[in-house]
Amino acid sequence: MQDKEGTASGTRIAVELNSVKGFFFDTINTLSAPVDKRILQDALDQCAFYNDLLSKTVPGSDVHRINNAAGKPVQISAHTARIIEVALDIGRQSKGALNIALEPLIRLWDVRAQNPRVPKESEIQEAMRGSDLSLIELDGQTIRVPEDMSVDLGGIAKGYIADRIADYLRSRGVNSALLNLGGNVATVGKRPDGQLWSIGLQSPEGLSGVEYFAVVSSSDNSVVTSGVYERGFDLDGVRYHHILDPRSGYPVSNGVVSVTAIGSESLMADALTTAMFVLGKNAGEQLAARYGYQCVFRMADGSISYTDGLSIKLLA
Ligand code: AMP
Ligand code: MG
Repeated sequence: MQDKEGTASGTRIAVELNSVKGFFFDTINTLSAPVDKRILQDALDQCAFYNDLLSKTVPGSDVHRINNAAGKPVQISAHTARIIEVALDIGRQSKGALNIALEPLIRLWDVRAQNPRVPKESEIQEAMRGSDLSLIELDGQTIRVPEDMSVDLGGIAKGYIADRIADYLRSRGVNSALLNLGGNVATVGKRPDGQLWSIGLQSPEGLSGVEYFAVVSSSDNSVVTSGVYERGFDLDGVRYHHILDPRSGYPVSNGVVSVTAIGSESLMADALTTAMFVLGKNAGEQLAARYGYQCVFRMADGSISYTDGLSIKLLA
């Protein structure tokens, strides 16, 4: 085993892990475990499978077919159906803060474009017209989305995939692994040395993957973060990031810099972080508690708050 990959927190540990990396879901995915690299490579192949199933830009993917069905019912895989089921549930519970029907608005802002721009107010209003979640009909593996609507699973799909990759590795006999899907971290068992995994929560001002404001201990669960620093652009001193407020049509501006959800299912944690980001600290904490998830909010004024009893160490 050649690689001496640390943990997601960057903390070095004594036992050597193998790691593989792949670029899927518009982000770098790193899978690490003290096992033969071929097993990790097989797991990475699974990432490619899910990317092709869930990406809205891959022709023939479930999401691409939904968005091009012109209002007709579409048969989807059990994977996609489960993701959408949870998205609709948390969409309702968060009063629309998580809204997978914001796809036209997300496309309009296109924060990853080479030359991103702030859309006109009229364009924003137009893009928000077809975003009524209650018009989406999901019945088992059949979905019907009105013709003028489309969906984007970017706020929730990575969590589901992290769960599936963790299960896949367990099925291959792996009892210790660290999966990092672009900040969406899931752990299998404990570290090879028997200690809990340490997951670093990224400082917004730090370079990606280098500086952390806190470390959360984890074993067989997920630590998922949404942050303003992940994707976006700066214009005239204003940060336009990738999490959009369904009420205003603009990037969320409520003082939240990052929010982390900690709990058993990565799918839930991912859906919750996006919703909690939009809801803000108080309502966000209440939403997480309703689902039995712990959370950490980091605010623009530097304050940090977290659920009582969370195993967290704040760094200077
Ligand atoms: P995350 O990093 O998990 O919070 O997901 C952010 C991604 O979710 C964005 O890049 C968009 O694709 C999508 N998104 C942005 N705003 C929302 C929203 N309010 N509800 C659902 N998905 C959203
Ligand atoms: Mg999310």
